[in-house]
Amino acid sequence: MLSYRHSFHAGNHADVLKHTVQSLIIEALKEKEKPFLYLDTHAGAGRYLLSGEHAERTGEYLEGIARIWQQDDLPAELEPYMNAVRHFNRGEQLRYYPGSPLIARQLLREQDSLQLTELHPSDYPLLRQEFQKDSRARVERADGYQQLKAKLPPVSRRGLILIDPPYEIKTDYQAVVSGIQDGHKRFATGIYALWYPVVLRQQIKRMLRDLEETGIRNILQIELAVRPDSDQRGMTASGMIVINPPWKLEAQMNNLLPWLHSKLVPAGTGHTLIHQVVPE
Ligand code: SAM
Repeated sequence: MLSYRHSFHAGNHADVLKHTVQSLIIEALKEKEKPFLYLDTHAGAGRYLLSGEHAERTGEYLEGIARIWQQDDLPAELEPYMNAVRHFNRGEQLRYYPGSPLIARQLLREQDSLQLTELHPSDYPLLRQEFQKDSRARVERADGYQQLKAKLPPVSRRGLILIDPPYEIKTDYQAVVSGIQDGHKRFATGIYALWYPVVLRQQIKRMLRDLEETGIRNILQIELAVRPDSDQRGMTASGMIVINPPWKLEAQMNNLLPWLHSKLVPAGTGHTLIHQVVPE
């Protein structure tokens, strides 16, 4: 079952949080000359037209990237992310939203490499097309979770692994934990960044408990909620779980989250959270 298309959601508040964290981790990895691998298990199509039928139908980006696009008091922590978004939008108008693989493509250096997988029959060819001329990248139509066994550890022994499934099937909440466990066994020093939606809080509590029970250490949780938790349909918050976060990430997000929340949620509902789930 592959009914999820990210084009309906591209640039929403959850993407803003996810891609901000992604870009800060990449910038931290770039502090050393040594190359690293960027592994994106659920890569999506890569580029999203915000005036396209899908994005227009939901209008989610209007309450996401559109709310910070024109701000002139951007905190420094947002610069790498916003520079990547600007690269795909020459001029004032916000037309395209770059997904995680294109943000990585923009920020990575010559010596770094990208490994991208996407299963959807419509999104995979779009993604492959985006990277046709990029010799740093390998794009495959393959199962993202399998990559955590097949592609780790990277030759460079440095890397960011972004795990961003659609959670269309409930088993994704368990699959992400066993996937991380598989990856961590092979590559314990890698940085793993897992995105999650808060639809039912119980699912996230359980996922975190399962993750703690793996015995993996050094786990940071970053969350931004636009509404209080609810048992009604719909996502009220989203977050990132980062294993082996760069040492500056917690302080950076502490600086940034209140600003981001105030811009993304002018009504002031919801909350932000930075929580060390398991210490080093
Ligand atoms: N990471 C992208 C970004 O930030 O721009 C968005 C990814 S979207 C949330 C999830 C994607 O995972 C969808 O495009 C879906 O087709 C794909 N997908 C679903 N199951 C998959 C699997 N087992 N392996 C790889 N991709 C999968």
